[in-house]
Amino acid sequence: MRYDRPVSAPLTSLPAARAHALRFAAVAVNAGQPARTPFSYAVPPELDVRVGQAVFVPFGSRILQGIVLALETTPEVEDVRPIAAVADPEPVLDETHIGVARWLSETYLAPLWDCIAVSLPPGYGQKSVTMVSPVDVPLLLPIDPVDQRILQHIAAHGRVTLDALREAVGTVTMARLQRLQLGGHLTVAQGLASPSGKPRFTRMLEALRSAPELEAHASALEAARPQSIEARILRAAAGGNLPLGEARALGATPAHVRHLEEGGWLRATEVQVERNPVDAYTFGELPALVLSSDQQAAADAIAANPGRTHLLHGVTGSGKTEVYLDLVARVLAAGKGAIVLVPEIALTPQAIRRFGERFGETLAVRHSALSGGEAYDQWYRIQRGEARLVLGSRSALFSPVKDLGLVVLDEEHEWSYKQVEPQPRYHARAAAEQLRQLTGATLVLGSATPDVTTYQRSEAGSILRHELVERINPASDGSTATGTMPSISVIDMREELKNGNRTVFGFALKRAVDKALVAGEQSILFVNRRGSARFTLCRDCGYVPVCPSCDVAMGLDLAEPIQARLRCHHCGRSRRLEERCPKCGGNRYRPFGVGTQRIEQEARTHFPGARVARWDSDVSRHKGSHEAIVAALERREIDILVGTQMLAKGLDLPAMTVVGVVDADVGLSLPDFSAHERTFQVLSQVAGRAGRREKAGSVFIQTYDPEAPPIVCAADHDYRSFFEHEIAHRRRAGYPPFGRLARLLFHHGNDEHALQEAARVATDLRLRRDTAGRADPDILGPSRAFIPRLRGDYRWQIVLRGRNPGALIGSVRLGERWSVDVDPATLL
Ligand code: ADP
Ligand code: ZN
Repeated sequence: MRYDRPVSAPLTSLPAARAHALRFAAVAVNAGQPARTPFSYAVPPELDVRVGQAVFVPFGSRILQGIVLALETTPEVEDVRPIAAVADPEPVLDETHIGVARWLSETYLAPLWDCIAVSLPPGYGQKSVTMVSPVDVPLLLPIDPVDQRILQHIAAHGRVTLDALREAVGTVTMARLQRLQLGGHLTVAQGLASPSGKPRFTRMLEALRSAPELEAHASALEAARPQSIEARILRAAAGGNLPLGEARALGATPAHVRHLEEGGWLRATEVQVERNPVDAYTFGELPALVLSSDQQAAADAIAANPGRTHLLHGVTGSGKTEVYLDLVARVLAAGKGAIVLVPEIALTPQAIRRFGERFGETLAVRHSALSGGEAYDQWYRIQRGEARLVLGSRSALFSPVKDLGLVVLDEEHEWSYKQVEPQPRYHARAAAEQLRQLTGATLVLGSATPDVTTYQRSEAGSILRHELVERINPASDGSTATGTMPSISVIDMREELKNGNRTVFGFALKRAVDKALVAGEQSILFVNRRGSARFTLCRDCGYVPVCPSCDVAMGLDLAEPIQARLRCHHCGRSRRLEERCPKCGGNRYRPFGVGTQRIEQEARTHFPGARVARWDSDVSRHKGSHEAIVAALERREIDILVGTQMLAKGLDLPAMTVVGVVDADVGLSLPDFSAHERTFQVLSQVAGRAGRREKAGSVFIQTYDPEAPPIVCAADHDYRSFFEHEIAHRRRAGYPPFGRLARLLFHHGNDEHALQEAARVATDLRLRRDTAGRADPDILGPSRAFIPRLRGDYRWQIVLRGRNPGALIGSVRLGERWSVDVDPATLL
């Protein structure tokens, strides 16, 4: 993509800049257009402009908000206009976050402003709006009825936004307004909407004398009048600032307050109130945990190598979180700050409590479920240095932490660290790496099942690896023992079929759940919902069709329902769906997949009397549902939990002893380069929920392909073997980390047009690559996206694979209906 720098004529209301102005500023402008470069402006001598400041700048005929990225002595273009005003004398961003923004924009081919915006306080971006104002001396009303209504409305309401005006009087064109302005009836101007993020104030009664003095005076008042309201107010205020609302609840009237103010006892003031989500938690006593020798060794080794990137590879339940807590304590003691990221779905009350118990005072929590006000206040608490530890999901990485000393990504392999919408489509791990380089902070990546790319880096030595190989089993008396990993059995569903079991639960799984029910323990039934019914599987031999050139499962092409076809959604290669299994000739070769609702029903049928709950994306959409389910599980009000990926994370429940993976094959056969890795991770994580205390856990993986490496390795708790299998596949096919991927996606309501446009861009890309005399990157497609149609639009994609596919994409011009994803976590 390339965008021309706008060289616009100066606004008439502003003086044109002199070419001999002394200083210039590179400004990222909130122009709602996808520029990846800043714009040059002259700095008027009377303005004190600094790097990181928010400013207002002329842009075309509008005034827009911008952030100063750098001051320079020569402008990028000749004809520059001056900065109109400084929005806030205090810089809102520092050099580090500006550096991160520039890196985000270059790496992910995203608009510079959007990359700046991730670091701004929530609700900071101000929109430009059209304002319509009445004139001081109104002329006679015009004859046109619409004109009349417009003028009557602004005469009654004063200055209004164009939107409000349209709401009140119907269609109002700009042409009409300009005509009315020319006629001297009104004025039209561009203004800025007020920011949605705002501090909140409350009125307080502040004590002006010491507490004993207030108490004494209260007693004196009561001696005169036993029910004295003023005495009550004084007593309450003696305990610290008294919110006016509470004073009113004690019966205070304005007269009481005035009287106490006149007496010099109290003063009414405005105090900013913090909307703090952490206040919702009550933190118990800090548990005095002594690190195990493995934990201690890992923490010491990480602390001994500050400024480096570390991989903390520890099996589920090995106590990685305690290592993070220890490292955070060290960093805070050194006067620095820390950011701990967890996947959004793992940001449970359990996680917040664990950090809150140790660092409640200085903890800020940032995630997408905060209200606008809470998010705003948390940002400023961090920026003021009052909160030095941030616990949050992906975007909390960009918090304005002072003197950053440590960044932790827990469960670093998680896909939710990759932002998909909106731009920039960054990966928090890569961005954290950038932040580490800019600040010198230590970066810790923790996981039981590291991303193979991360593990490969630790093999190559560019990051340091630390292992926690044993589970920690805390007993109720505070002591710990070495825990056992749950036993994992693989259930061969082909055998179950042969033995006459036509239900969705294998015999062994059913027996285990029954036993758990009798013992009053809890079970999880895990369903892999992603992509269900989108691939074909032979129930007799387990065969799944695979694309010979892409090494991924071929999907059913839903766009051709009459003559079903299999299609590789990476390269587009297709073939007719055979009626019988090409491998064994069997006739149970059919689309595969079951949903959570069906499993919930089956569970109720097979386990009558059990309390069954379902947890999937439908359920979790409701705010607070996550907390509600965790609480119900903790109170043991749920016996069997049926759910998808989201339940695999972070649950640490003493009575959870049985885990059944109902349909392991679904994950295995997703047509994606990381399908095997993903399956291994999910199986390991789900299995990790079982048997985390004294009671042993048992896990059952149901599959038609019991020899598949992700299943075998997960059942053996063998990360290393899995890694070796997976890295070989990646090397063979040129997938990350041996090649980078980029995906271009085009969507349009007309399928034929969508394909044509995608083909045009693919051809253009190939031509550019070939003329440069290169063979890199591979350009695959266009092919239909895995989700072939979304919100009425057909979707076609081009996949690039090579050393730096972003560079080639950056050279072509792409319209609005294209989206670019560099380093996608998945091609689904
Ligand atoms: P992970 O993050 O590796 O899955 P956790 O940090 O959640 O593991 O630890 C598992 C359990 O063990 C938690 O309940 C935790 O409180 C407990 N635990 C971890 N380390 C210790 C320790 N040194 N002493 C006592 N209990 C510990
Ligand atoms: Zn293919």
